[in-house]
Amino acid sequence: MHPAPNKIAVSEDWQEQLKQFVNTIDRLKEYVNLTAEEEATLRANETTWGATPHYAALMDRDDPACPVRRQIIPSSLEQQNRFGMDNYLVWKENRATGEVRPDSIARQYVDRVAFTVTQTCGIYCRHCFRKELVVDGSLSLNFNVDDGLDWIAAHPEVRDVLITGGDPFLLADDKIDYLIRKLRELPHVEMIRFGTRTPIVLPQRMTPALLKILGGYHRVPIWINTQCNHPRELTEETARAVYDLLGCGVNVGNQAVLLKGINDDVETFRELHQKLLTVRIKPYYVFYCEPAPGIDHFRTPVEKGAELIRDALRGHTTGLAQPMYVIATNIGKIPLMPDYYIQGKNAKEYTLKNHLGETTTIPNMPE
Ligand code: SF4
Repeated sequence: MHPAPNKIAVSEDWQEQLKQFVNTIDRLKEYVNLTAEEEATLRANETTWGATPHYAALMDRDDPACPVRRQIIPSSLEQQNRFGMDNYLVWKENRATGEVRPDSIARQYVDRVAFTVTQTCGIYCRHCFRKELVVDGSLSLNFNVDDGLDWIAAHPEVRDVLITGGDPFLLADDKIDYLIRKLRELPHVEMIRFGTRTPIVLPQRMTPALLKILGGYHRVPIWINTQCNHPRELTEETARAVYDLLGCGVNVGNQAVLLKGINDDVETFRELHQKLLTVRIKPYYVFYCEPAPGIDHFRTPVEKGAELIRDALRGHTTGLAQPMYVIATNIGKIPLMPDYYIQGKNAKEYTLKNHLGETTTIPNMPE
């Protein structure tokens, strides 16, 4: 567990933390010694940025390359866009297709939808693929929750609803309670998922009142996926929050984003996935950093994630620490896993290779 490098007292009250959100230069200077370039970029550009005090306190005071700091403080590189796609979210979420859906419903599959209920976050991640919506504000959507619920009610083929944002756990308890109750009333909804970074950036959000709402009824389970990109983000407070969630029947998985200079080396990648398990978070996905505009500087070649799974995880640590590496596209998630295990095949046998480069053979089983 990494201690918070900045020994700054952080409130245990999640709402107080939101009131003290670190989103002004003066507030930021309580946590880090800004470089001249960081300060100039903050002054020159209009973009939504900021983080909770809990997460801001994880920044290194003096290192601009700190993996937490790079996720919080805007870079001048965001003004460049050589490889990102314009109108990315409209393409990615199939918003220009013929199907009539409320703004809040994004669909790439028959049986599951993403239900966007807010554009407020506990950190405005510089690498966010929904940047146009939550950070830049160039895309605005209508988040009428009842429109979304009505649409889901009218689509019995939808058995799995992912509630997302923004960060849905920044909604008030009564709004979260309403969403869950309404979805559980629909006979075809078999599971509810939340995508939230709060276990990492605002673990204080897991209050007894919220835990009671989440754990209230076991027949339609709730699953949470969070986003932790670097082992430095894992704190005692996060460990406690995940433990409490598990105690009320809610599993927590991780959806890391592969980020250049943050987690794209073998040691960090392995440490991240091992440390997640020490706080009971199951590695679920590693996402290729999507071609949204203005985040070229975070993006690696596509093959990088598969190489890291091969070189850092497969065979090098427990199978529980193995996420699926995927690229999320307008036609769904495409797995991009390392492809080296079957070295050869003939009528008699398969030749298989392990993580150390050793080979072995097993019989070929005819159909
Ligand atoms: S918390 Fe999620 S939606 Fe919000 S900025 Fe970060 S990645 Fe984007």
